[in-house]
Amino acid sequence: MTAVPAALEARSLTQRYGSLTALRGVSLRVDAGEVVAVTGPSGSGKSTLLHLLGGLDVPQEGEVWWAGTRVDTLDTQVRATRRAGQVGLVFQHHYLLDDLNVIENVLIPSRLAGQRDEARARDLLARVGLGGREAALPGVLSGGERQRVAVARALAARPATVLADEPTGSLDRANAQAVAQLLVNLAREERAGVLFVTHDDRLAAFADRTLHLLDGQFTDSVPALL
Ligand code: ADP
Ligand code: MG
Repeated sequence: MTAVPAALEARSLTQRYGSLTALRGVSLRVDAGEVVAVTGPSGSGKSTLLHLLGGLDVPQEGEVWWAGTRVDTLDTQVRATRRAGQVGLVFQHHYLLDDLNVIENVLIPSRLAGQRDEARARDLLARVGLGGREAALPGVLSGGERQRVAVARALAARPATVLADEPTGSLDRANAQAVAQLLVNLAREERAGVLFVTHDDRLAAFADRTLHLLDGQFTDSVPALL
């Protein structure tokens, strides 16, 4: 079999916090162009998994691969530079820089990756419903608007992989669906692999498949959430 590298691959990830085991040997693969949803109750390990997949933490056991390269063994700074160009992250706390305006926030990853692209940033802002707000400072935005800026920022550097932790958590129904559709379109148009965590079955329905995390392991006992 010819091996086309996955956009993202995790092999047997185990992560403990003291005596608590948050992940127990989790493996997954997201192909280019594919959208995968991860659901699971609070405390099941979803955010821990995303932090490992995004290379923000290093697993105690197991491996993380981005586009065919193992990254958990890389030097932290090397991994951060690679992440800027290869992996778009949307985390639960949006971490916008309050003294940079909206478009400069969106441009952070592409600038770090050495490919600042203002036209792309403007297009993404328009697609998340924030056209015309480029010059606004984050402090004047609502929580939902800040979340949409964070989504645009995650996509700005044309990442091969997008990881999003409850990317629609502060959004109303219409904006949540628009963001989910944007992630799907990105996967299809740009061949990105997308993995997003959600509590909302209606959003999981946008994904090609859904993985259900329970107590640090994937369970296949839960049927598709459609
Ligand atoms: P989820 O995102 O599904 O709610 P998390 O990955 O945040 O789950 O947490 C999984 C488990 O690990 C929970 O029991 C949580 O309390 C614990 N946990 C998460 N982060 C830490 C941490 N930094 N220190 C100690 N325990 C943690
Ligand atoms: Mg979480």
